[in-house]
Amino acid sequence: MRWRSGDRSNVEDLRGRRGMRGAAAPLGLGGILLVAALSYFTGTDFFSILGDVSNSVPTGDTSGELATSPEEERMVDFVDAVASDTQETWARLLGPRYERTVVTLFRDEVRSACGAADSATGPFYCPGDRKVYLDLGFFSELSQRFGAPGDFAQAYVIAHEFGHHVQNLLGASDRVREDPAPGANSASVALELQADCYAGIWGHDASQQGRFGAGGVELEPGDADEALQAAAAIGDDRLQRMGSGRVAPERFTHGSSAQRMEWFRRGMSTGDPAQCDTFARIQ
Ligand SMILES: [Zn+2]
Repeated sequence: MRWRSGDRSNVEDLRGRRGMRGAAAPLGLGGILLVAALSYFTGTDFFSILGDVSNSVPTGDTSGELATSPEEERMVDFVDAVASDTQETWARLLGPRYERTVVTLFRDEVRSACGAADSATGPFYCPGDRKVYLDLGFFSELSQRFGAPGDFAQAYVIAHEFGHHVQNLLGASDRVREDPAPGANSASVALELQADCYAGIWGHDASQQGRFGAGGVELEPGDADEALQAAAAIGDDRLQRMGSGRVAPERFTHGSSAQRMEWFRRGMSTGDPAQCDTFARIQ
């Protein structure tokens, strides 16, 4: 990928924030389900984390010195560049219906309008405050634990979360709120696959030549494969096999590896959001 650093106006940097524990607002069951549905993948840890947080004692908002590195700062610039480019795509496609938002960067734990979360949740989108949440540590996990390295693999994760933002603006997220049950034909799977397709919509834009010269993000040969590898790496069947060794379609929330690749590819090849009607195809 080719990109350049911007003004970081697309990120909200809470990495130096400490003492988030205990500050969480009470979270209704619907909120819990929605956070789980919109996280990049659903970790079983998440629910126990929520319980832990709500029982702990508030420690206040003590900002400390941020220990960082040039590599990490470059990563912040990268997230900002991808978020900026993705939002430009959607502003062009949706016009005034698109509302800009930010990626909230955190370390270890964070409080969102959807409740408290920590790094084990993975990147997620909170419909309550309309923000994307990301711990940069996820990217090394994506590369090492899930076997999906590369900058476009990371960009795909960010673009997927912005896909959830678009769904929230257009009302698609409500369908999971109304019908939160998991399963291969569930609304949750349709929503997640649509977010993959929407990530591909941005990928379509980014693959156009001459964008870097015009100030945008531009893909290079081989980049698309990185995103497809990432999509395959976090399919429900693959994660279930990594976890319990058994595939249980009745517990699918995000779709299989093959489906995630297929819908990302569909968005990327067409650049047309109308091709992303997973609700018609899946249910
Ligand atoms: Zn998602």
